[in-house]
Amino acid sequence: MFVVRVALDIPVPTLFDYTVEDAAQVGQRVIVLFGRRQLVGIIMEVAATSALSADRIKPVVQVLHDSEPLSANLLDLLRFCSNYYHSPVGQVVLLALPARLRSDKPLKSKPAYRLSDGIADFEPLPVRQVVARRILDELAVHPCTFEQIKALSATAGAQLKRLVAAGRVQSFIHAPARISAAPHTFSNAHQLTPEQEAAVDSVRSAAGYGCFLLHGITGSGKTEVYVHLMDDALRRAGQVLLLVPEINLTPQLENYFSRRFSGVVLVSLHSGLSEQERLHNWQQAQSGAAQIVLGTRLAVFAEMPALSLIIVDEEHDSSFKQQDGLRYSARDVAIFRARQCAVPIVLGSATPSLESYHNAQTGRYRMLRLTGRAQSGARLPRVSYININQSVMTDGISEKLLREVGVRIGRVEQSLLFINRRGYAPVLMCTECGWLSDCRHCAGKMVLHRNENRLRCHHCGYQLRVPTACPGCGKAGLHPVGSGTQRVEEVLNARFPDARVLRVDRDSTRSKRAWNMMREQIHANEVDVLVGTQMLAKGHDFPALTLVGVLNCDSALYSSDFRAAEKLFAQLMQVSGRAGRADKPGDVVIQTAFPDHPLFRCLQNHDFEGWAAALLVERQMAGFPPFVFQAMLRVEGMNEPEVYEYLNLARASAIKLQHQVDILGVVPATLARRANHVRAQLLIQADTRRALQQFLRTWKPLLDALPARKLRCQLDIDPLEF
Ligand code: ADP
Ligand code: ZN
Ligand code: ZN
Repeated sequence: MFVVRVALDIPVPTLFDYTVEDAAQVGQRVIVLFGRRQLVGIIMEVAATSALSADRIKPVVQVLHDSEPLSANLLDLLRFCSNYYHSPVGQVVLLALPARLRSDKPLKSKPAYRLSDGIADFEPLPVRQVVARRILDELAVHPCTFEQIKALSATAGAQLKRLVAAGRVQSFIHAPARISAAPHTFSNAHQLTPEQEAAVDSVRSAAGYGCFLLHGITGSGKTEVYVHLMDDALRRAGQVLLLVPEINLTPQLENYFSRRFSGVVLVSLHSGLSEQERLHNWQQAQSGAAQIVLGTRLAVFAEMPALSLIIVDEEHDSSFKQQDGLRYSARDVAIFRARQCAVPIVLGSATPSLESYHNAQTGRYRMLRLTGRAQSGARLPRVSYININQSVMTDGISEKLLREVGVRIGRVEQSLLFINRRGYAPVLMCTECGWLSDCRHCAGKMVLHRNENRLRCHHCGYQLRVPTACPGCGKAGLHPVGSGTQRVEEVLNARFPDARVLRVDRDSTRSKRAWNMMREQIHANEVDVLVGTQMLAKGHDFPALTLVGVLNCDSALYSSDFRAAEKLFAQLMQVSGRAGRADKPGDVVIQTAFPDHPLFRCLQNHDFEGWAAALLVERQMAGFPPFVFQAMLRVEGMNEPEVYEYLNLARASAIKLQHQVDILGVVPATLARRANHVRAQLLIQADTRRALQQFLRTWKPLLDALPARKLRCQLDIDPLEF
């Protein structure tokens, strides 16, 4: 009889003891009874005895053998996350796994194929069996999935089955980590620029862990640096983890990297996959069959036995931070993971987060700079401003910008109007009585979606038909205030009836297919003017695009979120980078009421350094990150007094601890009510990460002991949202 300590998805910070008959292994999945429920757990420890008395300890229902045990390395990483984010260890462990591994239904894993061990004893196949020979050649390089084989030829599926029946090829579910330094073809497209070369050399010469910040303007060839480093790692039979922010970018990137590394097995991991696909890809990473793992934040928890390089592209992107449940930062976890595995990590961005930038300046990370565009001839766009207080405007667009768009249409070049708001107008108002389209369930406004004739709350999803008369006074004086993408589209259609206008936002791209078709249209030059949200700002390369117009971004300049300006600068830099990537120079025109704001001046000069320096001075004076470290206690509940009482008790218990931390006041969240839940928060700050963590370790048990029956309480470490 052995005792195993099992991680379960239960919100208490402990492991649970069970007994097993036969020796079981750490990392194995087990089915256990918890109360009356049957749960899947992970064995975290094996022990000889338990503190529980023999009659209270239950036997494990079943030890599952249909998956490989998790490695000690991964379990360490998850334990670290549990400690750092102050989340129950069992929940962290189970959250990190693909959903299929969390369920007690037997796994139907998809097999992969490889050459049989006895292949050398077979006669070579006759030459005329072209397809079968191609399959064997492919498998000689690396194991393949059925899909990969099928892609070789129309008859490859049938041929593969014949080869398996003949014993030349074996199928397997869990490949033993057989990572071979199989020759892959690396298509080396370019002669590296001296700056790229220097960046590659720096990372190459890192022995073991090193964190590098690759700061390169858009178009400076960061991807080329990644590719060269990846090639290095693959040659040494290593696996590469590449984290990217946006899910809609992954198919594109998957194609790109597959093309650059033919013969390499690349899998992706993101929330757009089916459970089965995700399990399959995860297991490919775990077995070592997948050499490149490309994914969004959740991929940081992929099991990779031969991990030898991590790249985080667009490291400043806030989508690396999970905003509910386990509020982890995939970038920060990746850095910990790189250190744990003693491998280099490269954080790439044109506009690094101030945290990373500060770390690079103070020597914790190494700074690598790419200051010029990689393609000779490609120039940075010209940035100019239109003062909206001194311009003739049509529904939020200035005449001057409309003229510029007209000029581009005449030249058969593309323009992009960027506005970070979907829908027709952010609010509907009654000009008679001042009624506003407030959401009944939230503290926010309902957005007018004129195409569907609906008012829709973007916070809780509540929707209504647009009222014909004012619900307040009954008069017919309802008017849309402000603009969203649909309104801009309407203005453009009215002004340029012959132009092809395409709106790209979350409403128009609900299906993956719609978005793919749009991308093709854009590339085939079947679009004259694009209207889009930040979806369009990221990573896309539209060669015919020569004008970017930015509408309505001033609100970030007076936001209560101290990071709003930092984010706006990054966004504008990114969207500006879309203009004039090929041989045509680009123009960026920004409409603002504050053309003299330092943000706009730095943007005009493409001066990230100047901007960052100014922001850092401000942050230091105000005592904000990266000069302090923060944790936010967020509480939500139906009953306002309960929410505030909890937070006040929490605050009192924090003060009593007398730690070296600042305990701020209890305040409403920026969105003080969402879906009928009152939301409030309490911010804690400390001068060092260590001081903050020490405080949290003593405070968390007190929090857990407070009465909070119907409240949702979350501790958010290094919060990004305020
Ligand atoms: P970033 O990721 O920094 O925005 P990319 O890696 O996409 O930049 O590179 C921008 C363009 O420059 C791409 O079309 C790429 O093929 C090209 N490029 C990259 N490196 C070189 C190089 N050394 N010589 C010529 N062209 C290059
Ligand atoms: Zn009214
Ligand atoms: Zn709402």
